[in-house]
Amino acid sequence: MNLARDLSGLERFGPVLDALPAPGYLVGGTVRDLLFGRPPRFDFDLAVVGDAEQYASELASRLGGSLTTHGRFGTATVHYGQDAHVDVATARTETYSAPAALPDVAPAKTIEDDLARRDFTINAMAVALPDGDVVDPFRGREHLRDRLVRVLHERSFVDDPTRIFRAARYESRLDFRMDPKTETLALMAAPAVQELSGARIREELFAIFAEDDPDRTFARLHQFGVDAALGVEFLPRMQPRLRELNDVYALGLPRSHLGLLSVRAPDGWLDEIKVTRPVADGVQAAHREEPFLRAALAGRDVGPAEIVEAVERTGPDTPLYALARAEDTALRRYFERLRDVRLEVDGEDLLALGLTESPRVGEVLGELRRRKLNGELPGRAEELAAARELIAE
Ligand code: ATP
Repeated sequence: MNLARDLSGLERFGPVLDALPAPGYLVGGTVRDLLFGRPPRFDFDLAVVGDAEQYASELASRLGGSLTTHGRFGTATVHYGQDAHVDVATARTETYSAPAALPDVAPAKTIEDDLARRDFTINAMAVALPDGDVVDPFRGREHLRDRLVRVLHERSFVDDPTRIFRAARYESRLDFRMDPKTETLALMAAPAVQELSGARIREELFAIFAEDDPDRTFARLHQFGVDAALGVEFLPRMQPRLRELNDVYALGLPRSHLGLLSVRAPDGWLDEIKVTRPVADGVQAAHREEPFLRAALAGRDVGPAEIVEAVERTGPDTPLYALARAEDTALRRYFERLRDVRLEVDGEDLLALGLTESPRVGEVLGELRRRKLNGELPGRAEELAAARELIAE
């Protein structure tokens, strides 16, 4: 099979093909997607047998682009054209001295050696450049056709348990399935996810949160016992709900944040996986406070000011999380209208009315807001009149 025509047809890749200083290989997800007929992507990974930095530097000068080297084992990025880039890496072998540890790396003598360190057969193909021949030592094309995610060898998940997350993610994204043996290996290796560093776990979770259907990936990881091994609970159906509310009410939270809200974890776990302080605080507070907020809003006809008061006693993520967990009229009212209610007067106005700077200013503003929320003060004139009365009291 030859992909020369498909490659030169890729708008951003054409110039790279013309500028290659020596033979190289296109590798990774782009090869998989090209062969699977998915729309072309814009991150191109090249592997070269030999010195990647030197190769990349020559490629950059031929493309009239620029070069960033990464210091990590022979990797560099060539920037070219309008905002396009290609990553170049030295073909390498990897060996694992301990499960879940980072591998020992050495230069590979052939592209096949480099492909043999990869996660799944569908990701272990290369396209020789510039001629376009497909290198497929593990029957990746066959597995693409059969929609299978399949490891290259039995120790794969033990060597690197992040591959369990990756396998479940590809299943969901591509609508593939692990072959029975891979599935069994994933099930057996799942407890090893607890050996991964916190930061690696966070990166895998964030990759899932960035997908279109993270819920499906969670369901699958749950079948393998990954959440149990991590000591957390993946809450089913939460992410679609959170995403919907985030969109409807234009809350602007990133998917990573919404995703974390859908993982119930013991206190301190978000720190272990190195989530930033404000996000960790908001998420933990939401999980802790949700039952209290619900109780405060339940049972009787709570007025608008009471709703806002109850919500404002909690952290910023709590009302969203509570509404995603279960429908609630009071919280709907909060998001639809109440959270946008603002006074038209401020502290300056109260001072102009003769109040001196003191805690009383805050009290009067608080009382005005309560009345405004309850629909008693339609405009600035009414707010000022009420303020005068309150000050005179
Ligand atoms: P996508 O970016 O669409 O999720 P991708 O296949 O490009 O897919 P990357 O995470 O960018 O995924 O990885 C690039 C390639 O590196 C993969 O296709 C795979 O061959 C290899 N790879 C990545 N992570 C691992 C891993 N944990 N173990 C083995 N190989 C890996």
